[in-house]
Amino acid sequence: MDETLQHIKEQFLTDLAAVNTPEALTALRDKYLGRKAGLLANEKKRVGGLAPEVRAAFGSQVNDISAEVEARLAELNDRFAAAQEAAALEREKLDISLPGTQFGRGHLHPITLLRNRIEDVFVSMGYTVVDGPEIETSFYNFDALNIPPGHPARDSADTFYVGEDLALRSQTSTMQIHAMQRLSPPLRVIAPGRVFRRDTPDPTHNPMFFQLEGLTIDRNITLADLKGTLQKFVQLMYGANIVTRFRPSYFPFTEPSAEVDFRCYMCAGIGCRVCKGSGWVELGGSGMVHPRVLEAVNIDPEEFQGFAFGLGIDRMAARMYDLDDIRLLYENDVRFLEQFA
Ligand SMILES: [Zn+2]
Repeated sequence: MDETLQHIKEQFLTDLAAVNTPEALTALRDKYLGRKAGLLANEKKRVGGLAPEVRAAFGSQVNDISAEVEARLAELNDRFAAAQEAAALEREKLDISLPGTQFGRGHLHPITLLRNRIEDVFVSMGYTVVDGPEIETSFYNFDALNIPPGHPARDSADTFYVGEDLALRSQTSTMQIHAMQRLSPPLRVIAPGRVFRRDTPDPTHNPMFFQLEGLTIDRNITLADLKGTLQKFVQLMYGANIVTRFRPSYFPFTEPSAEVDFRCYMCAGIGCRVCKGSGWVELGGSGMVHPRVLEAVNIDPEEFQGFAFGLGIDRMAARMYDLDDIRLLYENDVRFLEQFA
């Protein structure tokens, strides 16, 4: 074999052994087979200038070596391609037998569960659910509810003031005023929501808690309508045999006013843990809407009358779920809340 060709072939085999990337393989191909400056291409260009007697043999050798180089390069190229494909498959490997990511499923808070149930009962009795602001002016907090300046309920020791004339509502009764301004009588609304008082937290008090206000305004409404409505509510909530009792009370925005109790649903009046031995459970405050409250929203008390009531949702929940401490309802301890899933 021609000495130069022999040298090129040996050099190629040495170079080939050092190739370890597809880029190096491309560079190697150019070095030996490149059309313009490839080492074997240069040898082919020499063929035409050789003496006729050696020309054929030399040409044949160049072709053989070129074919071998081509075959070796193709073989290595195949190896690189196979390795790349294997790496891609490994990278994109998807194990469909692996368990999926588990997300904890949430559920409604016990207060919300009870509130929904109470709302359903009142809606079934023809009431509409309304909502309103938690920050109120003195007009809604006090003036329109017949709580005049100087009244103890306006004391900043009881109320969270957030400005000169603004305070967090201390009761959902503010919603009576909003409802009467928004809707013209006759109307029947309930307004569940958060209220705020400067109470020191203890097992039966929290500075934030939930109330539900109810209001009916119509012609010829009497105390009997109030009693019948709350009686019906208690029966739908706790059982058809549950009776109520009314105790005289005082609220600035109702006249007359009454505290409402109902016969204990646990012991039927014998006395138990739920009713603390009395046989009766407190439901909330109520009364006939004070004529001055109607006048504050331009409703003629000669034409329309109404009754209002306020229920403590938290206390109802504490009894229903047999909680020793009402604060459990606000601490968002998942171990406690999970019991209501
Ligand atoms: Zn009882």
